[in-house]
Amino acid sequence: MNDRKHFSRYARQIRFAGVGEAGQEKLRAAHVLIVGIGALGTVASERLARAGVGHLRLVDRDYVDESNLQRQALFTEDDAREERPKALAAASHLARINGETALEPLAVDLQGLNAEALLCGMDLALDCTDNFETRFILNEACVKTETPWIYGGAAGGAGASMNIVPGGPCLRCLIPLLPAPGSYPSCASEGALNMATALIGAYQASEALKMIVGAPSLSRRYFSMDLWNNRFAYMEAAPDPACPVCARGEYELLGKPPRFSCAALCGEDAMQLVPGGDVTLDLAALAEGLKGAGAVRVSPFLMSFEGPGAAFKLFPDGRAIIKGAADEKAARAVYAQYVGM
Ligand SMILES: [Zn+2]
Repeated sequence: MNDRKHFSRYARQIRFAGVGEAGQEKLRAAHVLIVGIGALGTVASERLARAGVGHLRLVDRDYVDESNLQRQALFTEDDAREERPKALAAASHLARINGETALEPLAVDLQGLNAEALLCGMDLALDCTDNFETRFILNEACVKTETPWIYGGAAGGAGASMNIVPGGPCLRCLIPLLPAPGSYPSCASEGALNMATALIGAYQASEALKMIVGAPSLSRRYFSMDLWNNRFAYMEAAPDPACPVCARGEYELLGKPPRFSCAALCGEDAMQLVPGGDVTLDLAALAEGLKGAGAVRVSPFLMSFEGPGAAFKLFPDGRAIIKGAADEKAARAVYAQYVGM
């Protein structure tokens, strides 16, 4: 596309003083990784494609399910019927929104073994995932490669976001230990309003745009909001001088296989996920949180859950049998969504 046509397409954005022609050129040259193409990632990727970001790498391990359509922009009933991988489905819609954006959909699970490779060539990354295991890995990979990234999370009517940039606090400064499975709010336990997820996705895209054009107004604080209860807040955050990741450079998750091991169960249409290390789950508390999401039964030995798009049995040691999961990615996606990783 010639420059004249390029600039007329983005005329309103170029007119905006914070972007201008120079900013638009920077957007065209930018390479952005989006990890998780769900409620946040579909919104953020659409904003960035429409804004004229030149290259988007879209990473997601999951497939489109009917229960995603309420909040995951871009996806259609056809995508759910065909169970299309989210990264590929999103790329096919984005390609029709902006043919100038190079799209690189990858239906993979970001793990310790591939995180640095997935960041290769990227200027920044957006965390649009639903679990802290992936965020901790992304944090290590980004700190190690000095790549800025934007944390995002939303559940219920609330959400939060923060820019993690070299020299500032990293995620481990704020959250020293990986939260236990099931210990934090998730879309499965709290539900999700699509307005809350859209707001956080748009906030992340807006901070990404500021990073790319080099805006001095880039936020250095932790943003949280609760749309339902009318709360918007900013919190100061400082680097922890004892942080193992950004202060001491200890990358304990990079280069390692997943913390969870996974295997197909012979003769059954199911996958078994086994967490590494010592895990003790409070099944009664988890069952209480999942009551609104499907049918839950709990005994002293196991919890069984059946809901839209997921059925599993969960044991007190964290082991889970995921029914109908086609492969490891699908099994891990169910576990992350309903139990937490
Ligand atoms: Zn840190």
